[in-house]
Amino acid sequence: MSVADIVEVRAPALESLGISGDRPLLIVDVDEVLGLFMDGFGRFLEGRGLEMRIERFALFQSIFRPGETTHLEIEEGRRHFDDFFRYGSSDMTPAPGGADALRALSARAGVLILTNAPGPGRLARARWLGRSGLDYPMLLSSGRKGPLVAALARQVAGPVAFIDDLMSNLDSVAEAAPQVARFQMVADPRLRPFAPSAPERHARHDEWPDLHRALEAMMDAR
Ligand SMILES: [Mg+2]
Repeated sequence: MSVADIVEVRAPALESLGISGDRPLLIVDVDEVLGLFMDGFGRFLEGRGLEMRIERFALFQSIFRPGETTHLEIEEGRRHFDDFFRYGSSDMTPAPGGADALRALSARAGVLILTNAPGPGRLARARWLGRSGLDYPMLLSSGRKGPLVAALARQVAGPVAFIDDLMSNLDSVAEAAPQVARFQMVADPRLRPFAPSAPERHARHDEWPDLHRALEAMMDAR
């Protein structure tokens, strides 16, 4: 565990976001959970004459110049990534069923979007959520999500669920807030076979109707 993981983080008051601490809370990631990030970023790269090849679960090792077998320099990939969030992320395709599931779940639970995205992409991301029927409060963060989730969960009396595609975030939440129920979703079918998971620690549901049922069951049981 690094120092960054055990440092207490300050979280905004849920009430200031319009979320009641008396209801269950669902903390939901965006990329590969509510939005098809690899698909959107792949199309953005095509517009720049590059290719996304999904052959492993490692974003910056998946960007190539056509015909080449060595991936793009990591730093160059990172620049395209930042540009995508600023200029290209607003036409990302929503994950099928996500908006419907959250709309139904929001009848009994608060919904908070927690996304790791470069700061300049905040406005585009908020607009995308609004246009996609996902107009819930959003927090933009960076790094492992556990400490922030722990600080948010402390404000909630009922059950809390955390949904993300990345093992690093799921493990971080397991460490910092073990009482929070964790669910993994990998929305892009092409990515699923390559995505590391640990279903004994974090339940995995790659389709929103399945995840919807699991979240309802989690709330019923607690
Ligand atoms: Mg994600």
